[in-house]
Amino acid sequence: MRMTAFEDVSLRALMLLAANDTGEPLATRTIAEGIGTPYNHVSKAVLKLRELGYVEATRGRAGGVQLSDAGRKATVGGVLRALDTREDLADCETPNGDCPLSIQCGLRGALRRAREAFYRELDGVVVASLPHERQMGPVLVQIGLRPPAA
Ligand code: SF4
Repeated sequence: MRMTAFEDVSLRALMLLAANDTGEPLATRTIAEGIGTPYNHVSKAVLKLRELGYVEATRGRAGGVQLSDAGRKATVGGVLRALDTREDLADCETPNGDCPLSIQCGLRGALRRAREAFYRELDGVVVASLPHERQMGPVLVQIGLRPPAA
């Protein structure tokens, strides 16, 4: 199963926020730079993550976002479930009409079960446990949260 670009950006943002050990919130622009994604995409993802309660925002000149308690405990499966609002993986029902094979379609049920199995596997993976030093160290230096190595 393929994640949407929005889901990928949201998980990247959560991972960077988990790796931020400064205790200070990160500006959306800083997150965008760190995860290599255009600002407007990150801005939409951060807004959604706020709505879902995974991040908290602070206003002001030094404002930005940081993980909430829920965000620190969030699992990849939980985040993906919360972001995936599709009823079906395939275009079973569309504004232009339903698929002609939709009556008691066995494939539709099988795809729903497969998606649930995918998420269940990821329910055991805590997002905040994923970042590691070799991965995030250079990123934190690049966005100015850590001094360059001497
Ligand atoms: S064949 Fe079944 S799964 Fe595929 S679009 Fe039609 S209803 Fe959905």
